[in-house]
Amino acid sequence: MTNPIAMPHVLPSYLKADQLGPWGVYLQQVDRVTPYLGELAKWVETLKRPKRVLIVDVPIHMDDGSVAHFEGYRVQHNTSRGPGKGGVRFHQDVTLSEVMALSAWMSIKNAAVNVPYGGAKGGIRVDPKQLSRGELERMTRRYTSEIGIIIGPSKDIPAPDVNTNEQIMAWMMDTYSMNEGATATGVVTGKPVGLGGSLGRRDATGRGVFTVGVEAARHIGMDVSQARLAVQGFGNVGGVAARLFAEAGARVVAVQDHGGSIYQEAGLDVPTLLAHVARHGSVAGFEGAEVIVNDAFWDVDCDILIPAALEQQINESNAKRIKARMIIEGANGPTTPQADDILHERNVLVLPDVIANAGGVTVSYFEWVQDFSSFFWTEDEINARLVKIMREAFAGVWQVASDNKVSLRTATFIVACKRILHARDLRGLYP
Ligand code: NAD
Repeated sequence: MTNPIAMPHVLPSYLKADQLGPWGVYLQQVDRVTPYLGELAKWVETLKRPKRVLIVDVPIHMDDGSVAHFEGYRVQHNTSRGPGKGGVRFHQDVTLSEVMALSAWMSIKNAAVNVPYGGAKGGIRVDPKQLSRGELERMTRRYTSEIGIIIGPSKDIPAPDVNTNEQIMAWMMDTYSMNEGATATGVVTGKPVGLGGSLGRRDATGRGVFTVGVEAARHIGMDVSQARLAVQGFGNVGGVAARLFAEAGARVVAVQDHGGSIYQEAGLDVPTLLAHVARHGSVAGFEGAEVIVNDAFWDVDCDILIPAALEQQINESNAKRIKARMIIEGANGPTTPQADDILHERNVLVLPDVIANAGGVTVSYFEWVQDFSSFFWTEDEINARLVKIMREAFAGVWQVASDNKVSLRTATFIVACKRILHARDLRGLYP
């Protein structure tokens, strides 16, 4: 008889083949690691479908008196190791395929750094810049109420992602708490510090990027204090990572953001550039740097490249031109699978998103623990624990990559998939 667990039903009936998109990329990644999963491979089908998908209608009163409807999602990919955990994205291009893939990558990321969570993600297809503050608040609250049936401090804990922030987390926490009749700070992370948020959360992802970068540099004999860096995206992730590398003596020679690209052979003055971006919203117009055309950013002579902006930035055409010996993925999904193969062949070391940008969710975990215990740690304690977790996780992944002669991305998937499927195996199937 055919083993039903091993049957390749990888295409959920609600997604047509031409809509596979990012979910299709994720499925390819799982296929790549399956040969390394040994006995646990019998459970691999678990990873190829989300546990739960919720699609919600989010109707709100607009300021002009009309009613608008938005489509919202919350996907819980896997909860074998603990409650779902992952951000909420407000963006006009959000699709179910994207939210499914992002939820799966959260399962991988959380297992890779061994925090006791499964993976989840949410989103609303909306351009939030078109909404007034009142409309944004009403949409956030209605969405939270609609997904309230599946989220909760021990069920699924949302967090910020693209176009969502501390204020939106505060509204989500308040809405959930109103519906429950009790204040539940632990239902979301990334909250304001005055509302159960954690010190160090804002810098956490950039600090994690820096930490794994330093570890990897040590392995390949690169002196970080002499390294030249190019950084795409100078926001929460890229800005903090650039600052920490510069403090370690590295020269940040090029930065690109939505406003343009700048270059300075001698190294940009990072604190002054951060202040400029805080004032003007972009690196454009920064004095003391040469302006380069955006495409030339990929040709810059550098040792480390940090993509920390958007998905699919490193592709088949620019992957051949990149000079860096090491790429640290601050953004989620910045490298296409084709580019990944080119970089691997060219011996460029890629530190994949699923480990490199896991610092954010690690400190989100600390926030959740602090909320549960109602006891808050100092920023030094948080940073020290973050660095310890990131170093240990990276060392484990490095070992698996060396043992199996695979890329760090495949190694991270091997480590994470084994942890998830081991939990699945121990729990067994209900009923
Ligand atoms: P952010 O909004 O703070 O910064 C985004 C940066 O990208 C800005 O500098 C912006 O100018 C730049 N950018 C936007 N469009 C661009 C374009 N077309 N070309 C070049 N640059 C462009 O966002 P963030 O929080 O720093 O997130 C960046 C990435 O990191 C996203 O992929 C996000 O999903 C990922 N990430 C963030 C966290 C976190 O904790 N913030 C955690 C994990 C992953």
